[in-house]
Amino acid sequence: MNLQKKMENSTIVSATKSSKCSICDGIGWIYELNEYPHRCTCINDYLAEKKNEKIKELFSEAYSDYTFDNFKIEDEYQKRMKQKAVEFVKAKGINSILLLGQSGSGKTHLAVSIAKVLLDRGAWIELMPYTEDMIYIKQNMIEKEQYQKKMYKYKNCNYLIIDDFLKNTVRGNTVNEKDFGIIYEIIDYRYKYKKPVIITSEYFIDHMFKLNESIAGRLKEMVTQNGYNFLVQISNKEGRNYRMRGMEKI
Ligand SMILES: [Zn+2]
Repeated sequence: MNLQKKMENSTIVSATKSSKCSICDGIGWIYELNEYPHRCTCINDYLAEKKNEKIKELFSEAYSDYTFDNFKIEDEYQKRMKQKAVEFVKAKGINSILLLGQSGSGKTHLAVSIAKVLLDRGAWIELMPYTEDMIYIKQNMIEKEQYQKKMYKYKNCNYLIIDDFLKNTVRGNTVNEKDFGIIYEIIDYRYKYKKPVIITSEYFIDHMFKLNESIAGRLKEMVTQNGYNFLVQISNKEGRNYRMRGMEKI
């Protein structure tokens, strides 16, 4: 390989990969005489690197050890929660999952674990941290471009995780009208185009129905498809909130 060629290649490499592969020279493909070009094994490292970058972008440091293996089972309900989440990643067809109820029971842990498995399969995942995003979206609605950019991601990604759905937007039995508009736009779009959601919320489904029937109805339909039921509701009981552990009253 002449120097010019080498330099061209190294430019490509530095743009796509942090270190150069000695087998394929960083191209990602192997060309051999009388053979179809085939993928070099280094592409796996590249994909793994991309995946890790995406994980870092999506999840804060606090979520870094959230995996199925690290999910602690100390009680029957946790065993059932995990079973449902594992069943979800193995399920056929397009499904959504709702993890609802008791705060601090590990709902986010499982949602993140699911996302990591799906990322392994190359899925496009986006995370909507509900409370922060509602504030952000409302502030940027006037700046159309920013708003549309975020909404585009949330509507079109393969899986949208909404963490702490409805938090801080409910007063009594009503949802703030502006918030409702945003939520409805996302949920209705994903419902229509069969794009799944992974949602955690402290609100149970019957409460969601009271707040807004059209949103709750769509969500319920989305989690009960293809013969599955991924409506996971964890009832509120003392001792189920890991943040409160060791602080139980006698
Ligand atoms: Zn290679």
